Amino acid sequence: MNGHDLDGARILVTGAAGFLGSHLCESLIRSGACVLGADNLSTGRLSNLSSLIDQRSFTFLLHDVTMPRRIAGTIDAIMHLASPAAPRDYLAMPQATLRAGALGTLNMTKTAQQKNATFLLASTSEVYGDPMEHPQKESYLGNVNPIGPRSVYDEAKRFAEAVTAQAGRAGQRVAVARIFNTYGPRMSDGDSRVVPTFIRQARARQPLTIAGNGTQTRSLCYVDDTVDGLIRLLTSGFAEPVNIGATNEVTVLELAKLIRDLCGSPSPIEFVDLPADDPRRRRPDITRAAQVLGWAPRVDLHDGLSRTLHWHLHQPVGVT
Ligand code: NAD
Repeated sequence: MNGHDLDGARILVTGAAGFLGSHLCESLIRSGACVLGADNLSTGRLSNLSSLIDQRSFTFLLHDVTMPRRIAGTIDAIMHLASPAAPRDYLAMPQATLRAGALGTLNMTKTAQQKNATFLLASTSEVYGDPMEHPQKESYLGNVNPIGPRSVYDEAKRFAEAVTAQAGRAGQRVAVARIFNTYGPRMSDGDSRVVPTFIRQARARQPLTIAGNGTQTRSLCYVDDTVDGLIRLLTSGFAEPVNIGATNEVTVLELAKLIRDLCGSPSPIEFVDLPADDPRRRRPDITRAAQVLGWAPRVDLHDGLSRTLHWHLHQPVGVT
C-alpha cells in the first residue's frame, strides 16, 4: 500500500461502530478500500454503520479484540481504534479499557504480523497527561499519574504505544496517531465529552455544566480532518508517533458560550468540581503532521460545531 492508493486494499478497522471508527470506515470505502469492521458494541452502535451495512465493500465482524481470533483472507492494514474513549465509558469500564489497550493491541499487532499488514494504532493526546510542555510535541514524554482514575485509559494507551513501537523495531510496518480531542456527528450526547454534553444541555435549556472555572483549554478537531490525518498516516510509511489535532485553543467557557449561541439557547452556565487529573491545557504541535503528511485541519470550529448541531437536530428522539 503506497502513497494514497487504497483502491482494492483490504483493511481491518477495530472499533468500527464507534464515533471515529464509523467515519473512518466510510472514508476508506470512498477511497476504494474493502473494509472489515470489527467491534464488540460495548460503546459503539450498529446504527453508526447504517450507510455501510449493505455495501459489498463492507463486512461487519462482531468481535472483542481482547480475544484471540484468526481473521480469514488477506489483510493489507489494521487500524486499531477499539477502546472505550469517553471518560464516562473508561471510568465505568476500567478493566475493559486496560484490556483493550493491552491485550487488544497485542492481538492486533500479532494479526498484522501474520498477515504482513501495516498496523496503525489510534493513540491519544492523553499519553501526555497533564502536560508540563506547551504546545505538546511528539518528543514530549508526558506527565501522567499512573495510579489516578484516568490512568486506566492513559496508561493503556501508553502500553499500546510500547507494543506498537516494539513491533516496529521487530520489522513490522507500524504507525502511531496521537489523536487530540475530536468532535462531530455520531458522538453520543450522553458520553460525557464536552461538545455533545453542551449541545444536549443547551437544547434542553438546562445549565451548561463546566468543570472547574472554565479557563482550562481544549483544541477541538472536526472528525473529517482527523480521519483524513489517519488515512494519510496509514499510507505514509512513517513509524514515529504523529500528533493529529487542531491548534486553535479555546477555553471550555468560550466553547460553552459558542455552543449556547449556536443553539439559540438561554441556558445559564454552571460551575462544578473539576475531576481528578483533568488536563489544564492541551494543544498539539502539528509541525510533524504538516511535514510528513502534508496535513493540517481545514474545518474551523464554528463550521464544525454547526455541522455537528445539524446532525443532532436531525436524529430521531433517543438516537444520540
Ligand atoms: P467510541 O467509544 O465511539 O468508539 C470506540 C469503539 O470501540 C466502540 O465502537 C466500541 O464498541 C469499540 N470497542 C471497545 N472495546 C472493544 C473491544 N474490546 N473489542 C472490540 N471493539 C471494542 O470512541 P471514539 O471517540 O470513536 O474513539 C476511537 C478511538 O480513537 C479510541 O481508541 C480512542 O482512544 C481514540 N481517540 C479518540 C479521540 C476522540 O476525541 N474521539 C481522541 C483521542 C483518541
